[in-house]
Amino acid sequence: MSDNKEKKHQNGNAREYKTEDLIVYWYPSMCSHAAKCITLLPEVFDMQKRPWVNMNGASAIEIIRTIDKCPSGALRYSLPETSKVDPDLANGPGNIKNKATDLSTPVTIRAVKDGPLLVKGPVTLLDVDGAVLREANSMVLCRCGKSKNPPFCDGEHRFIKKDE
Ligand code: SF4
Repeated sequence: MSDNKEKKHQNGNAREYKTEDLIVYWYPSMCSHAAKCITLLPEVFDMQKRPWVNMNGASAIEIIRTIDKCPSGALRYSLPETSKVDPDLANGPGNIKNKATDLSTPVTIRAVKDGPLLVKGPVTLLDVDGAVLREANSMVLCRCGKSKNPPFCDGEHRFIKKDE
């Protein structure tokens, strides 16, 4: 069990949530608010609560499996030294160490109706000067032009009226 406190991370604006078995990182600026985590594991992820991540709401493995499905990579995890979790079960796409490494996987980009572009596969995203913005195996990019955090989706498309 943890005291379920939220810690601001030194790395950018990441937030950190920790138990002796698992550390969860959340990068709000990457989050597309697709609510995958909230749908899959509402006992842990609840935007109405503070902190919004309840590390005591499910087992470390359940949290890991949910984070592995985060489409934007806004949620990540690592195992602290005290962890009893089998490292082989914590080596999915959500592990903070896993970047865009599996070059054998083809990249797919899928447009979501009235929504963003879902990018899957090992991708390095560069800014206009060629500097690396992000290396990851999944990310969600803005397609409506309204994101306040371009080129990433921040969920703003949900507030666009159909006739706009
Ligand atoms: S992008 Fe990831 S962290 Fe954000 S709502 Fe979706 S699953 Fe949750």
